Amino acid sequence: MRLLQVNNLKTTFHIEAGQVQAVRGISFYLNKGESIGIVGESGSGKSVSMLSIMGLLPDNARIEADSLIFNGSDLMNLDYKRIRKLQGNDIGMIFQDPMTSLNPLFTIGQQIMEPIRIHQKLSKADAMKKVIEILKLVEIPSPESRLNQYPHEFSGGMRQRVMIAIAISCNPRLLIADEPTTALDVTIQAQILDLMNALKNKLDTSIIMVTHDLGVVAKMCSRVMVMYGGTIVEEGSVREVFYNPQHPYTWGLIRSLPKVSTGEKRKLIPIQGTPPDLIAPPKGCPFTARCEHAMKICELRPPQQVHLTETHRASCWLMHPKAPKVQREVTV
Ligand code: SF4
Repeated sequence: MRLLQVNNLKTTFHIEAGQVQAVRGISFYLNKGESIGIVGESGSGKSVSMLSIMGLLPDNARIEADSLIFNGSDLMNLDYKRIRKLQGNDIGMIFQDPMTSLNPLFTIGQQIMEPIRIHQKLSKADAMKKVIEILKLVEIPSPESRLNQYPHEFSGGMRQRVMIAIAISCNPRLLIADEPTTALDVTIQAQILDLMNALKNKLDTSIIMVTHDLGVVAKMCSRVMVMYGGTIVEEGSVREVFYNPQHPYTWGLIRSLPKVSTGEKRKLIPIQGTPPDLIAPPKGCPFTARCEHAMKICELRPPQQVHLTETHRASCWLMHPKAPKVQREVTV
């Protein structure tokens, strides 16, 4: 059953130099209880598309979509008051860097209590009880005393647990995690991912993981979307995209991953070049300037999306029946 259905979302920022077309017509869905991943490099549009759904963009952003259906309601038709009700209550967001996302002037307890009091209208005493329950849920030891401490008194991993506590404080149906483990070292990273998986099952929440780390996607998600230049260039189940990738950008992402499980030594190959200028995006395929297989048609016309299975889709001219066959040297 669908929890979220995004149809043709476009987000544009108006700046002095022109209009930045950060998200250029993406469509995807999320089922109830499912975890999906959105991968891509900085500037691919992954975080902006999530902030568009949350309604958390600055005034110079314009959001257009055929529809953004969340739990049966079209977010495009809701007024500001109803969107505010959804933020933090039905949709929770975990941000990348807990040190800059938490307010250094308020205690941890005050910061977790704020959404509870706004959305659930609990008394101060009941809200405090709930804060202690949530701190236990995210495995912060001695919650009764720690809730009176400030963010600088917590370690990086503990601060990220607090961010998760704030995001789940109102039992959201959807949790959006934007690079939740980027600022953490690998052992703490693994603990945070395990915690998120456990909470997902306990609270029956659906998760969208925004990340540049394919390892995080493999651990957490059932499906994955690969974004490039404000568009989704490939999507499918994690198995389909990791073991049978079709888009040269996905090949590049996989080739730049270290392969430690087999002990096989191989060179990591970075993707050369820089992302496209989204003030004047390319007319054809957005990856043309960096693609070693680019053809004349790639510059002129955007490739159509090809459906390989019910879940696996990709947009690349190499999938056209008349395209030359190329060697894909990619394995996970
Ligand atoms: Fe490369 Fe062309 Fe495919 Fe784009 S459409 S990824 S430029 S081959």
